[in-house]
Amino acid sequence: MAAAPRARLTVDLDALAHNHAILTQEAGGATVAPVVKSDGYGLGAGPIARRLHAEGAREFFVARLDEGETLRAELGDREARIYVLDGAAAGTLPRFAAARLTPVLTTLPQVTATSAWAVANGGLEAVLHVDTGMNRQGLTPDETRALAQAPDRLRGLEIGLVMSHLGSAAETGDPRSADQLAAFRAIRPLFSEARASLAASAGIFRGAEYRFDVVRPGVSLYGGGPFDRPDDRLKAVATLTAPILDIRNLRPGDRLAYGRQYTADRPVRAAIVAAGYTDGVIRASNGGGYGWIAGARRPLLAVTMDVLAIDIGDAAVTVGDAVELLGPNAHLDDQAAAAGTVAHEVLVRLSRRAERIYLGGA
Ligand SMILES: *Cc1c(COP(=O)(O)O)cnc(C)c1O
Repeated sequence: MAAAPRARLTVDLDALAHNHAILTQEAGGATVAPVVKSDGYGLGAGPIARRLHAEGAREFFVARLDEGETLRAELGDREARIYVLDGAAAGTLPRFAAARLTPVLTTLPQVTATSAWAVANGGLEAVLHVDTGMNRQGLTPDETRALAQAPDRLRGLEIGLVMSHLGSAAETGDPRSADQLAAFRAIRPLFSEARASLAASAGIFRGAEYRFDVVRPGVSLYGGGPFDRPDDRLKAVATLTAPILDIRNLRPGDRLAYGRQYTADRPVRAAIVAAGYTDGVIRASNGGGYGWIAGARRPLLAVTMDVLAIDIGDAAVTVGDAVELLGPNAHLDDQAAAAGTVAHEVLVRLSRRAERIYLGGA
């Protein structure tokens, strides 16, 4: 019996290992601590982290406490530190202890509550997140200085890492990164026993001064270029393909799909493909997004919930042939730019319906 046509998401763990090796080389001696939040950017935190562990990674970042708990279970008895970027909300510290998770403390109330819990429960390792200018999460430099001057407020806590996050690392030429670097350097000596971490994917490629002791790559492990455009050194980890369901001939003036998504201004051969925004193809990507088939890019004409249309020109293709919508030829960064978003968002939207296949074991 033939398989029903559907979109397929292939997660290439060998490509992941390749990207990890490139990032390790770029990191120049800094420890690479992969970011596997949001279920490993939608690709499966378990298989991703197990493979990266096999490649030598021993520290991982997630965003949420429950992501940390799930990852701990997925890693089984493998030795690994798991950092939770959200920090510890009131009352959750027993769960951190049970799953051996390390909170990344981002506010003074978190510091106070975590310290009190640690004093009563025999100590806890924690990270301090300092806001150096992104204005999203983290203690202000003044709050951080005040803590350093009153070590009592950190009683029970072993601060193993001090970190900050860059808000404009992908925008080359934006002075905000240099300002943040200077602010981080001013804070760093206050916790001279702790390791320091500033760079995510883009920061790693900004130069040695951004790397410190630990780097936290996410998107570039999964194949996204650090500067929001394709980078030949990195390989596509996620490949989304879907078969052609039908080929339709549009006449000039014919309207395709809903509303005014596309009106043919000439005769157009449109392949109707079994993938839609449910499968992660962002609806807004029809201006500039493309599918790859028969050795060329074919413009996306319209994306609906379950199916999309591409202009196949006079390509020799037939019903059942697979179109690559994301992967080595349909680049993540191109598709993100076409959709007016970042590679991160394209990846995390892939997780819902496509059949999923992993290549290369852990
Ligand atoms: C998401 C995140 C990262 C990873 O960022 P990428 O751009 O995907 O490399 C690193 N650090 C923090 C604090 C994050 O929130």
